[in-house]
Amino acid sequence: MIDNKMNRRGFFKALASVVGVAAVAPTVLNTVFSSQANAQEKRRGSAPAAGGAAMPMVDPNDAVAKAVKYVEDHNKSPEAKGNHCGTCGFYAKKETRNGKEVGTCTIFAGKLVYNNAWCGSWNKKA
Ligand code: SF4
Repeated sequence: MIDNKMNRRGFFKALASVVGVAAVAPTVLNTVFSSQANAQEKRRGSAPAAGGAAMPMVDPNDAVAKAVKYVEDHNKSPEAKGNHCGTCGFYAKKETRNGKEVGTCTIFAGKLVYNNAWCGSWNKKA
């Protein structure tokens, strides 16, 4: 009988600790994963958008990017003739990544381009 009480008491203690862990675990895991995601964003040098993931940069090897001759540095394309995204009517400044200004471009919806980039669809900002 005493063994039974001890066993029952031990069982409820163990149950309480398991339930306690189960109740706390999601909060702890959420905090850990959230801080890991923020650390990754800091390593990439980008600030996450409020409540969401950072927008990706345009990949110069992307089919659309290649079709419009997109380059991340306008100085590497003689066709740019000194023009760049920052002076293009399709560009809108958004944030800074790795010390470089980036923004949205009407042609590349959902992605960002460097202020210093250029493509063949450049159109002088009004
Ligand atoms: S359309 Fe303008 S803003 Fe968009 S990639 Fe080309 S030059 Fe840059």
